[in-house]
Amino acid sequence: MKVSELISWLIFPIIVTAVLGGGVWAIEAGHEPSVVAGIGTFVSLALVVVLERLLPFRKEWNHSQGDLLADLLYLPSYFGINALVQPLVVAGIVLGGGLLSDAMNTPLWPTEWPLLLQFVLACLAVEFFDYWAHRWMHEVPFLWRFHAIHHNPKRLYWMNATRAHFGEVIFRGILNAVPLALLGAGGEVLALVGLANSVLGLFQHANINFKLGPLSWIFSVGEMHRWHHSVRIEEANHNYGSNFLFWDVVFGTRYREEQRDSPEQLGIENDQIPASWWAQLRVPFK
Ligand SMILES: [Zn+2]
Ligand SMILES: [Zn+2]
Repeated sequence: MKVSELISWLIFPIIVTAVLGGGVWAIEAGHEPSVVAGIGTFVSLALVVVLERLLPFRKEWNHSQGDLLADLLYLPSYFGINALVQPLVVAGIVLGGGLLSDAMNTPLWPTEWPLLLQFVLACLAVEFFDYWAHRWMHEVPFLWRFHAIHHNPKRLYWMNATRAHFGEVIFRGILNAVPLALLGAGGEVLALVGLANSVLGLFQHANINFKLGPLSWIFSVGEMHRWHHSVRIEEANHNYGSNFLFWDVVFGTRYREEQRDSPEQLGIENDQIPASWWAQLRVPFK
């Protein structure tokens, strides 16, 4: 095995274990959860941007195809809305009658479990809601008009992760925050879920030639998510999981091919979406 091939197998498991394992360790050691998540996100972003240059999946995907300006404009709205939605949902649930745990007079979230297990449980819960939110965005024509903006690019690189209409960011943000807020998961768990969203969201779209092997049963990143961006609808309507593929396996929508490593063409058939960010924002309302 050549060195470059060995590296392409090791990149993903090493970085994800280091970032998420390091996050669990640092929070258990008493560090501020939001700071840990922020540092983990920044380190992941720096590594992904450098690796896209050193080990690209497609060299031409590192260059703008008229999409860079719109992608840059989506960044602040994505982070701004996400930063607002979660605290608002938590506050709304607390104000509107308290947590389910209080209403039922029994703690619903297993706060006594080791943090790592709480994190896994939280991922399962959030991914269930996000699986259906994402699938509905493909299957319900009105919702697809919002989500199409995420799917129309003909290339995948790290900034596709935040390329989403504000309507989609609000819709999925609320559905992501409600289950954990209702169940009463703590700030440590919420920070770790946020960190997982960052590192796995970056690897989901990254233009890095990394291999998954058996991890393609667990993670909805890299080659698995490229199928989801195929121009062929019969390939694209699969692999809905935003970080993991648990629920795609359960509901029969996991998709992978042995013969081809990627769809030949990405994007949307008969793409009518304008290139300008401002025109894109108005697409769903026309
Ligand atoms: Zn999609
Ligand atoms: Zn995507």
